[in-house]
Amino acid sequence: MEEKVSSRTTPSQSLGQFDFGEEPPPICSKQTQVFKNKFYPQTSQQEWNNWKWQIRNSITTYEELSRIFGPNGYEVSEDINLPLRITPYYASLVKDPYGPIGKCVIPTKDELIVSDYEEEDPLHEDKSSPVPGIIHRYPDRVLFLVTDFCSSNCRYCTRSRIISKNDINRKVWDPAIEYIRKHEEVRDVLLSGGDPLLLNDDSIEYLLNSLRSIEHIEILRIGTKVPVVLPMRITNKLVNIMKRFHPLYLSIHFTHPDELTEEVKEVCERLSNSGIPLGSQTVLLKGVNDDIDTMKRLMHGLLRVRVRPYYIYKCDRTLGTSHFQVPISKGLEIMENLIGHTSGYAVPNFILDSPFGKIRLLPENVKRENNVYTIKTFKGNTFVYEDVE
Ligand SMILES: *Cc1c(COP(=O)(O)O)cnc(C)c1O
Repeated sequence: MEEKVSSRTTPSQSLGQFDFGEEPPPICSKQTQVFKNKFYPQTSQQEWNNWKWQIRNSITTYEELSRIFGPNGYEVSEDINLPLRITPYYASLVKDPYGPIGKCVIPTKDELIVSDYEEEDPLHEDKSSPVPGIIHRYPDRVLFLVTDFCSSNCRYCTRSRIISKNDINRKVWDPAIEYIRKHEEVRDVLLSGGDPLLLNDDSIEYLLNSLRSIEHIEILRIGTKVPVVLPMRITNKLVNIMKRFHPLYLSIHFTHPDELTEEVKEVCERLSNSGIPLGSQTVLLKGVNDDIDTMKRLMHGLLRVRVRPYYIYKCDRTLGTSHFQVPISKGLEIMENLIGHTSGYAVPNFILDSPFGKIRLLPENVKRENNVYTIKTFKGNTFVYEDVE
């Protein structure tokens, strides 16, 4: 029997067996359980698995940080660019505060060092913003910043200038949606921020619904780290909302294979089963994932949970990120050790983002003279990038 599927019919309708009515049984891996019992002994499993509890109890002070990781002088005396914020769940993955996961979220004095190469807005996004919340840099797609809040602040954040600054909030939504409605060349909207999945269910539904009502919008994407830092946010209720707006893609920010816990695997499986294609975005970071073995393990681990590796980024030069910078040459070496050596599906694109847009770096299309790289942008312009080794 032939089944007619219009473009507005969601593929999930044929996945009726995955229409979970009830919330899934909470999963708490051994490591997380041990951490919870040690540092949050009064907290019930139910509270721990409640995403709002996780937000309310996130680590935001140096006292809390010392209570958990010991008084090792994390206190950064001067004002740091980006507030400290870590979910208890993500903190449970930190084996060593100076190790790969710890480095990503625990501030250090290195952040106070600002190099000549660094800028508050390294991609000059603010210049490509026709209305607040919209960055329109490419011909057929826009970035729509819907919130400035994240549940765990990555110390290398490319948008640290906006995080928790209260310039991006629901006031920007309707004018931004109007902009998209008027621009018929836009066929792809990428919701980001901040983390869109920290909005409440009604707000997410409002945004997706408004965008889906625009005839020329073909695909919707959400950029998020929530499945990794706050997997309990991915409730069935949220998944059931998201799957009504297909084709909806999720780009998940993954950094290290240690993030692939039982909780994260379960969440990725449920998202995939709901017909949401999952891709990954990873920032290449010194001491975190800047070696072939770690990167390969991450890419393989992602494929095992049905996440297709999409992008590895050269770390943007936001203020105070020199201690995270990995030379382009190292990124190219990692690419050379993936391409052909493993499944094509495990090979992402290596991207240098710039004020001229994203530039795909491949070992064979980069001209290098000492530390100076001459690269072609997607518009055919030449971009010269001076790297630091
Ligand atoms: C990264 C980005 C996009 C999406 O780019 P893709 O290469 O299609 O994933 C869109 N707009 C802006 C401003 C971006 O930075």
